[in-house]
Amino acid sequence: MLLAKALDVRYGQFRAVREVSLEMKQGETIALIGANGAGKSTLLRAIAGALPIHSGALLFKQDDITHAPSCDRVKQGLSLVPEGRRLFTDMTIEENLLLGQTIHRPGEWDLERVFETFPNLVKRRYAKAGSLSGGEQQATAIGRSLMSNPELLILDEVSLGLSPLVVDQVYASIEKLRDTGTTIILVEQALDRAISFAKRAVCMLEGRIVLDKLTVDTDRHEITQAYFGLQ
Ligand code: ATP
Repeated sequence: MLLAKALDVRYGQFRAVREVSLEMKQGETIALIGANGAGKSTLLRAIAGALPIHSGALLFKQDDITHAPSCDRVKQGLSLVPEGRRLFTDMTIEENLLLGQTIHRPGEWDLERVFETFPNLVKRRYAKAGSLSGGEQQATAIGRSLMSNPELLILDEVSLGLSPLVVDQVYASIEKLRDTGTTIILVEQALDRAISFAKRAVCMLEGRIVLDKLTVDTDRHEITQAYFGLQ
């Protein structure tokens, strides 16, 4: 479904992502891990089209999208839930969700299905997004992406700043998406949670992928070694 070949992403002269190659099949789940500054968000933003790719190639469902604008990527079924949620705080939950449909791939997601997936949002549907709890905001941000009918959903630090109980709720929802076949790339700082969620663990260090393994074939020690560059 997704094929990245030797991707380089730069901020000026600085190579934040270096020759990253990654292949992902439909229905797979990847936990993208790595220390602060390893290049995870930069890679995800480049895949979503929010940052330009300096060199290399990116294919989605066999189409070359290396230089495609992000709206075209959304129409093809690629959607990013950015770190920090980026909701319109003066708009209601429902309005934020509907914005996710402005550019979309044809499919089955609509308001009703989002509210079924995140039942806590129903009673708050007309509340301003700025008045929501962190968990409700995160659910709204994920729901907004789902409204575009993604085939590949990219989740950047969905549990950041949430209480453990709320993190459990958010994960219960994204596990449902995983179990119904949505292809997911997830950035998560909590290693144990990342490993138990995803089929594959991909670890970045200083802009490069230093480990790419099925989670059943690896253990916490090996991942920690890769994380800190101790191999
Ligand atoms: P975090 O978990 O802290 O978000 P990350 O793995 O997602 O880390 P990135 O945010 O992708 O890492 O950052 C990769 C590198 O690029 C870091 O060295 C960072 O300082 C640098 N960087 C990120 N954004 C910019 C920017 N807008 N301009 C210049 N350098 C940047």
